[in-house]
Amino acid sequence: MSDKPQAIIECAGLNKSFSDGKLKVDVLKNIDFQINEGERVAIVGASGSGKSTLLHLLGGLDVPTSGKVSIAGEAFSTMNERRRGLVRNQSLGFVYQFHHLLPEFTALENVAMPLLLSRLSSAEARQSAAEILAKVGLAHRLDHKPGELSGGERQRAAIARALVTKPRCVLADEPTGNLDHKTADHVYDMMLELRSETNTAFIVVTHDIQLAKRMDRILALNDGLLENSIM
Ligand code: ADP
Ligand code: MG
Repeated sequence: MSDKPQAIIECAGLNKSFSDGKLKVDVLKNIDFQINEGERVAIVGASGSGKSTLLHLLGGLDVPTSGKVSIAGEAFSTMNERRRGLVRNQSLGFVYQFHHLLPEFTALENVAMPLLLSRLSSAEARQSAAEILAKVGLAHRLDHKPGELSGGERQRAAIARALVTKPRCVLADEPTGNLDHKTADHVYDMMLELRSETNTAFIVVTHDIQLAKRMDRILALNDGLLENSIM
């Protein structure tokens, strides 16, 4: 066994440009970094600096102009659509600024969904969903639909859904961006507590420096370059 920490996500020479025919915008320029098992990293940067673009590439939801992204050593570019879907479902969890819970389904059903997609039996999926919802303090909200939950409760349900599969890495894009500071802090508590049970790595995009400081490392995106930040 090597003591070298294992990279869960690795980017090499990552570039992303958008072009509307005339104008070409280089959003990400030659980005290299790796996130190790269990590591918690914040990504900060001004609005429009490319944070969401970067997370989309890390999650295999978009393709780079050049360079590559690997999940546990396997490059997205070498995977077919089916394999990419499987890796996204089994190795990654996603949390967005707006919860993206399905409005017609209860909190329990929403959280059970990724497990049902991975073909777990309905009873097992519901059991695991109920357990993780209890851990984020929503044991009394299992049968509530998203519209019947507060903003903080919805984000906690979204985090439960991202973590229910015990992914290797969670990618969170301003997960507390529309919550007040106290609620946001509480949501972070939940996230970090759950993480300590599964050694899941976290990459969290945030505007909030206080929240960023709760992570192990802060990376700043500036002019298309990603740098270590010592805030
Ligand atoms: P952030 O999340 O840091 O606010 P984004 O990653 O959303 O920034 O956007 C970075 C830049 O890339 C912006 O200038 C944005 O307009 C541009 N951009 C993002 N997605 C697209 C797209 N699909 N087509 C064209 N330009 C885009
Ligand atoms: Mg964004």
